[in-house]
This record gives sequence, structure tokens and C-alpha cells, in this order.
Amino acid sequence: MSVTVDDTVAAGGPGLPQRRRLVTALPGPASQAILARKSDAVAAGVAHTVPIAAVAAGGGVVVDADGNSLIDLGSGIAVTTVGNGHPKVVAAVQEQVARFSHTCFMISPYEGYIAVAEALNRLTPGDHAKKTALFNSGAEAVENAVKIARSATGRPAVVAFDHGYHGRTNLTMALTAKAMPYKRGFGPFAPEVYRAPGSYPFRDALSGVDAAARAITLIEKQVGAESLAAIVIEPIQGEGGFIVPADGFLPALADWCRANGVVFVADEVQTGFARTGTMFASEQFGVVPDLVATAKGIAAGFPLSAVTGRAELMDAAHPGGLGGTYGGNPVACAAALAALDVYETENLPGRAVAIGEILAGRLTGIQSTDPRLGDVRGRGAMVAAEFVHPGTGAPDAALAAAVARACIADGVIVLTCGTFGNVLRFLPPLSIDDALLHEGLDVVAASLAAA
Ligand SMILES: *Cc1c(COP(=O)(O)O)cnc(C)c1O
Repeated sequence: MSVTVDDTVAAGGPGLPQRRRLVTALPGPASQAILARKSDAVAAGVAHTVPIAAVAAGGGVVVDADGNSLIDLGSGIAVTTVGNGHPKVVAAVQEQVARFSHTCFMISPYEGYIAVAEALNRLTPGDHAKKTALFNSGAEAVENAVKIARSATGRPAVVAFDHGYHGRTNLTMALTAKAMPYKRGFGPFAPEVYRAPGSYPFRDALSGVDAAARAITLIEKQVGAESLAAIVIEPIQGEGGFIVPADGFLPALADWCRANGVVFVADEVQTGFARTGTMFASEQFGVVPDLVATAKGIAAGFPLSAVTGRAELMDAAHPGGLGGTYGGNPVACAAALAALDVYETENLPGRAVAIGEILAGRLTGIQSTDPRLGDVRGRGAMVAAEFVHPGTGAPDAALAAAVARACIADGVIVLTCGTFGNVLRFLPPLSIDDALLHEGLDVVAASLAAA
């Protein structure tokens, strides 16, 4: 094999050649050797989608150990929104890691954590007084939002929604709707979690107001507002299938929460940070959440998450009641401050809108001649295509899986999602260039035509 990875990888980040190039079938021999070690050493439950061993990434590509360069339409699940190796993030991380990597914020606080809190208090929806607490993962943020809501209200119950996804810890598994792969065999789950129907315009044909009324009736009859601490909801459901609720659904729920002393928690772990064309998706639906859980795009891939919300709720838990050894790690905070600067100064919400126009335009173009694309939906650079059996509209998971497999084999990283597994989702890094994005979508179109 004549290609070595060294020349392409040396630059890393956005300096990588922005091209799709396959020099082997996937996985190539070098990736195969590493993946063989994975199956020997790593628990089988930790599966992977793309059969490569990554050695570099940046702009809109991921490079593997054999020198294959794949177009990235997944961003490591909506995380590397600013792009891998963004120079501002790299510089901030290098500077911080050389100074100190940990003191524990609960022992010896440091400014970076506080600056991230100030930034999130400013950037999240609403101009009320806000406070923030930092954690490590999205699931941990959602769990802490529930802790805070329970502590503030003195009530036990929590409502989550059909098709919702909130994480893999015990409480967040309970909040998550889908059994396979997230819950099966892992119970019993946390008590006092109830599930309400949401709004899925493609499948329920309900107006937002009617869908909210259906959910509220169930909550009032089966839970009771006086027992309910919080509802936890993704403004656009991520793993559940990029389900955009009908207009009016979220505001009606938020109004009901306000009238009943229930904390409205927006899980913006996947939708947050410019992804949908605004800093937070809640803004597009006209709701101001009481608490917002964030993670994924917050720090360009460093483990960091946050709960941000009304100061009086955030202050309800007693001193020492919130925290964790690593929460708000200084290197992750440095990465977040750099990433937040990039979101604002490089107008990434605007870039997400432009990318979304390309994604939605190309996909609706395919849909106009291919009835297997039942629905194309999303906001900004969070767009999905739902595959169906024409005629019946029944979900076609096999088609989504086949298209995803073919795309990956042809050098384009795409992800699937959806309760029925029949949704192909697109979450490109906002650092991808238009030509590469179009080339990736050419591969998607060809894979679908061949499927
Ligand atoms: C990914 C995700 C989570 C869980 O985040 P982790 O960092 O994987 O724990 C929670 N909620 C939503 C909406 C997510 O997309």
C-alpha cells in the first residue's frame, strides 16, 4: 500500500485535505488490526457504527489509520459543531492543560468554570436572572436538572415523552422511551417517571395545541400536577427521530407548567449551540424553559455539560448538594469558552441555516421523485429523512440501515435514529465546506437509488 497517513494527519484539524478518498475497502488492514484488538479488549456492549480506527479529523473529514478520508455528516453525534481541531479550541486547551488540569471546583474554584456559567446565563433563552452548574455528560446534566426541580418544588414525579432520549444512567434510562438498545435488560428503573404522548406531525396529524391537550390530560389524570416536579422534553427530539413538534405544542406545555408550578426542563443536549440555526432550539418555538440541560456541542468534544436556569430554582439545592469530582473540569471549560467564542464571532447559527438549506433542499429534491422518503424535517444543520414503505407509510428500518451502510462503505459517515430505526439523520460539523457537503449528499442519493 503506497499511501501513508503521516502526510495527511500531520496538519490535523481544519488543515486536513478536505476530500473524500478511499484507498482501501473499509476497514483497511491497519483499522482491521486495531478493531480486532477492540473486540478482544472492549466490552461488547460498546458498539460502533463506522468500521474504521480514526487517527485525525477536521473541517468536514475523518481520516482513518489506513489513510482513508471520510466525509463527516455526524460530528460524533452533534458534538464537534465548531469542527475538530478548531485553532481557537486547540490553543485554549493547550494553554490551560499546561497551567493546571484539575483542582476540583468544589475544593479550589477557578475562573474558567465561572466564565462558562456567565456565558451560559447570558446565551440561554430568557432575560431573567439565571445560574448554572457544570457536570460531565448530557445524562448527568438531565439528572441534575431533575434533582434541582425536585428540590425546588418538593414534588417527586417527572414526566418525559414518547420518543424521548435523555441518556444511559439509571434515571435517564427511565426517562428514555426506547427499550432497544438503551434499556433492555438494564432495569429496574428509577420510580416516579411517567411518559406522555408528544407531537409527531408526520405520524399523528395533530395540531400542536391538540397534541399538548392530549399530553396535559394524561398528566393531570395519571400523575396529578400537585405531584409533578418537572417535565423533561427535547425541543426537537434527537435519537427519537429528529421529530419537530407542531407549532404551539411546546408553548402550550410551558404555559401549563407555569400555571401549575411545574418546572419546564428543556433537554437541549443535542439541539443546543447553533445546531438548529439559533443558539438554542427553544428560541424557535417561542418557549423560555425554566431549566436548560446542555452538553454535546458545548466544548468541541471535551466532556462538559451544564444545567442553566432560573436563579431561584438553581439555588434551591443546599450547599454541597450539587457537584462532582470532575464537573466543570478546567480544560473542558477552556475548550467551552473558546467554542462559545467561535459560535458567536464566526456566526455559526447563520452557517447552520445555510447548511440546512443545502441539506433540506437536496433531500426534498430526492423526495419529490422517491416516495420511500416519507418525510424530510429538521431545523438548521439538524435534518433527517424518514424512510417508509410507499403506500402504507409503515416505517422502513431496513432501507435506512442499508442506505447508511452503503454511504459509510463509500466514505460518508451518516447516522440513523428513530424509535422505528427508519430515520437517516444529518449533523455535519459547521466547519464542512459546501462542496464536500454536496459530495456527501451525492453519495447518499446514489446509495438510496441503488438500495
Ligand atoms: C446525547 C443526549 C443525551 C445524553 O448525553 P450523554 O453525554 O451521552 O450522557 C441526553 N439528551 C439528549 C437529547 C441527547 O441527545
